[in-house]
Amino acid sequence: MNLLTRFAAIAGEAHVLTRDADMAPYLSEPRDLYKGRALCVVRPASTQEVSGVVALCAETGTSLVPQGGNTGLVGGQTPDASGHEIVLSLTRLNRLRELDLASNTMIVEAGMVLAKVQEEAERADRLFPLSLAAEGSCTIGGNLATNAGGTAVIAYGSARDLVLGLEVVLADGRVLSDLSKLRKDNTGYDLKHLFMGSEGTLGIITAAVLKLFPKRRAIETAFIGLANPENALDLLKLTRAMAGPALTTFELISARAFDFVLHHGEDVRSPLQDRHAWYVLLELTSPNAHGLSEVMLALLEAASTQGMIENAAIAATLDQRQDFWRLRELIPEVQKREGGSIKHDVSLPISAVPTFLKEVESVVTAAMPGARLVPFGHLGDGNIHCNVSQPEGADKEAFLSRWAEINEIVHAIVTAHHGSISAEHGIGQLKRDLLPSVKDPVALDLMRALKKTLDPKGILNPGKVL
Ligand code: FAD
Ligand code: ZN
Repeated sequence: MNLLTRFAAIAGEAHVLTRDADMAPYLSEPRDLYKGRALCVVRPASTQEVSGVVALCAETGTSLVPQGGNTGLVGGQTPDASGHEIVLSLTRLNRLRELDLASNTMIVEAGMVLAKVQEEAERADRLFPLSLAAEGSCTIGGNLATNAGGTAVIAYGSARDLVLGLEVVLADGRVLSDLSKLRKDNTGYDLKHLFMGSEGTLGIITAAVLKLFPKRRAIETAFIGLANPENALDLLKLTRAMAGPALTTFELISARAFDFVLHHGEDVRSPLQDRHAWYVLLELTSPNAHGLSEVMLALLEAASTQGMIENAAIAATLDQRQDFWRLRELIPEVQKREGGSIKHDVSLPISAVPTFLKEVESVVTAAMPGARLVPFGHLGDGNIHCNVSQPEGADKEAFLSRWAEINEIVHAIVTAHHGSISAEHGIGQLKRDLLPSVKDPVALDLMRALKKTLDPKGILNPGKVL
């Protein structure tokens, strides 16, 4: 029996895609940086089927590329150009297996779309707090495989912090069934954390026990204009002091990013009368229905009295809140309309962010006069998407050909501040060759040793991360 027939015997003939048109959506990614080819796309619907597919890959030495919602930004989910790899799509593995309200846990399969996970939690009068702009199409398996961040990390941590147990298909097809609901368990190594953030290179995540939280009964959202990132940091400190655990989102937006949104976004307008050099989207949430609006008002008043902020608007309705959020979420989209963009997803000690922003602006514009810095991101986590738009009227291809050079300049500053060159998007293909220059050599050795142990034949997402 040939390989395709054997895959079909496991997942069903209809779920082994081989025609170019059927495979096309799985072979390119959102930024169009990577395109691949594949022998086929296999879409199993159960852990047992995943296990069968992986065992067959191990037996035949076939490399496989796990894929969830295909929203990853570093090319981790795209096969190489050989046409010999298979794409293992997890999207049919999408059931809610169990809800345990006393334990505050939910067991979901890897292919469930993040927005659906949030809905299932909501239906149970709970909150699943992971939230990112791609939530309508990314999957929880992809979120865990990349240890996704998003806009509520400051309050709840990143994806790995929201997990109690994991079910993983190993490179030989065996199933590591660790769907534990335990909040305390010190029986040796915590293996689940090996797979989270490993971008499909150590195992295939098929299900997870997720932590649930109390539902939000009050949400206060403010859009704030301020003079500089130092003031934003002071506001962050003040918010922590005055709002404590209610602080859920603290997003920094540069004037240029905001101008792009106002210029290109449909149906958008600034909630503030004047233009400011920087903006903050601040959200407080609470499981208590009452008292939060007073906290927000007191906070903004104190910040204004202390000269940290220039102006602020508080969302009065749900529509207004959504409008504020759109101003933040449109940034990546509208940036495309300004031509080429060189991306940086970096993190720094929070206190170093203002200095970092100044240094980057000066060094990048010195190397490339007219380059437009468009920084924005999760200041509360020290995570800045320090993107660079091409000079106005420049040739896009010529600009993009300097991607590596500009990366190097920015990453040198990141490294000098003991930061990270990949805060939340991962390594994938995009940053693989940069890793050795920034990672501690001992850490890199350990990573290679783990890869060899868990995937001795090198069939799991080869060429990604390492
Ligand atoms: P995919 O893109 O399909 O895969 C991503 C990686 O995980 C690949 O290496 C793949 O091989 C591996 N993988 C997928 N599923 C599995 C599995 N079940 N088992 C093992 N490996 C697997 N990311 C953030 O962190 N924060 C953000 O705020 C954010 N915003 C975004 C906004 C937009 C508009 C877009 C397009 C992307 C954004 N991302 C963000 C990046 C992306 O959404 C996340 O990386 C997401 O977690 C990927 O999920 P996915 O299901 O699409 O995974
Ligand atoms: Zn982000």
